[in-house]
Amino acid sequence: MKQALSWSGRLRQWWLRFRCPSEFLCDHCKYDHPSACSRPQRPNAVKCPDYRPRA
Ligand code: SF4
Repeated sequence: MKQALSWSGRLRQWWLRFRCPSEFLCDHCKYDHPSACSRPQRPNAVKCPDYRPRA
């Protein structure tokens, strides 16, 4: 069951990346700048514990 959830999570990430590029968290994150964020998934993060929406 856990493996099925992991598979569906990867499928969702693939779908967001190719179908909904505007849905990346970084596009709306106030840390979306090299000096503010060093996470390797920037600028295409779809899940991020540090995400903070721009004011
Ligand atoms: S903190 Fe997370 S969501 Fe924000 S820019 Fe960095 S990787 Fe993207």
